Amino acid sequence: MSKLCVPVTDTSVSSMLDSIHSLPPEVEMVEVRLDYLQIPDYQSLERAVVRLCRGKDRPAIFTNRPIRSGGRWEGDEGRRLDLIRRAISSGAEFIDVELEVADRISCGGSSCRKIVSYHNFKCTPPDLQKIYGQCQRRDADIVKIAVLANDMADTVRMIELLRERGASSPLIALSMGEAGVPTRVLAPRFGGFLTYGSYSDERASAPGQVTWKSMLDMYRFHNIGPDTALYGVVANPVMHSMSPVIHNAAFAECGMNAVYLPFKVADGLGDFLDAFQNYGLKGLSVTIPHKEKIMGFMDEVDDMASNICAVNTVTIRDGMRYGSNTDVEAAIDTLRGAAKRADMLPLDGRRALLVGAGGAARAVATALTESGVVLTIANRTVGRAQELAQSLGADFCGLDEMEQYEPDIIINTTSVGMYPEVDRIPVPASLLRKNVIVMDAVYNPIETKLLRIARGRDCVTASGFEWFISQAAGQFETWTGRRAPRKVMEEVARERLQP
Ligand code: NAP
Repeated sequence: MSKLCVPVTDTSVSSMLDSIHSLPPEVEMVEVRLDYLQIPDYQSLERAVVRLCRGKDRPAIFTNRPIRSGGRWEGDEGRRLDLIRRAISSGAEFIDVELEVADRISCGGSSCRKIVSYHNFKCTPPDLQKIYGQCQRRDADIVKIAVLANDMADTVRMIELLRERGASSPLIALSMGEAGVPTRVLAPRFGGFLTYGSYSDERASAPGQVTWKSMLDMYRFHNIGPDTALYGVVANPVMHSMSPVIHNAAFAECGMNAVYLPFKVADGLGDFLDAFQNYGLKGLSVTIPHKEKIMGFMDEVDDMASNICAVNTVTIRDGMRYGSNTDVEAAIDTLRGAAKRADMLPLDGRRALLVGAGGAARAVATALTESGVVLTIANRTVGRAQELAQSLGADFCGLDEMEQYEPDIIINTTSVGMYPEVDRIPVPASLLRKNVIVMDAVYNPIETKLLRIARGRDCVTASGFEWFISQAAGQFETWTGRRAPRKVMEEVARERLQP
């Protein structure tokens, strides 16, 4: 079973030991980073190694990484290795030495196990198998390869290495960076010896490290195994996405053996889908910039997603890929909820001003026209508003012409007002009259300035947060056929967002 290991990067022995002792037992190992210690003389450093070996409360890897391999040791190379030897003689369970010096360190007759490691902070080199062989030939008990993944294709190559080699001898194969997160979280699924979780976001010792807390609480690391179903969000960039928090909480609440990951894919959507489908991918959320492009890789796309030319949900069943869109239904449900509160149902014949002409606008505009709403689309780039309006038989205008309208419903689908630019509003405040329904697609912050002013003027408001949770719940239900635990999804999302 793969272990969770936390690197401790404090600068003194006592705070390093405090950090180790503060970790829960589910973190089975620590990596003691000797190169982070700020101890000026060598004799004191030797004593520090002995104190750390005696004082730690769980198995530890002792590492003294030089600058050239991403560490902080600037001193003499001979002394660097002597400190590793001192760790071996003081009872360390594991030591980690770099490939190029691995021949100079032997664990002799001790019970210490030697990790021979290769790092590359620039790229994933083409010859991973060769590097693996070189490490193994240096008398390695465990091979570690940690390289930067620039895209998902690099991550897939790393997973392939782990699948091929990890079963026969212990291997730590990790891709660093945003694209590499799946290799870190899925180590137990593919037979990795361990994965690293950072002590905190601020104390990550490699790019893309996930905190130990997120590994345990969000990803349920110790529940992941060969049968765990895989889900995720495909985007670029992806790390800002709230979806992993929400969907993992939903899977946990329903007791499902499933994990949801961030997949950073720039190019190569088809190769990504082929590889992960083979690994057990069951469903995907799709967001910027892939909603349209992914349609070309589906076996079937439903009518609504075809109409608006955007798939936000992929379901993989019996080897077939189905594309659908939960944004539209979620948007219209959110709007209907507000219309009910405003006693404005049915929507038929109501006048709506929709601001924006991008993907979200297309979804909302389609739903509105299907509900018989009289629609005007306003956009910064008027040509885009015109194009969308004409495809739906709606009216259009520029942002400076909005004031002439007297809408019953105002919907913002631009990013204006989104964190950190929270002081902006997308429409003239004069349009926010009593009883007008005001809906915002922006969900961070939960109450945008637009919604706050609207509420103060007795408008009926509908938040992007309601819409967001609703589209995520729709995805969960599409994939699993179960009722989504909305309350839990909402709670975990609220904890992460600006109030
Ligand atoms: P998109 O396709 O990139 O469209 C962006 C729209 O915003 C365009 O109409 C763009 O106008 C306009 N815009 C951007 N910056 C602007 C500015 N400074 N001033 C005026 N207009 C500006 O993006 P999208 O997918 O439609 O998403 C738009 C927003 O909706 C995002 O904030 C997204 O997070 C949110 N959203 C929320 C949900 C939800 O579940 N709550 C669902 C989908 C989207 P131009 O055409 O002139 O560039």
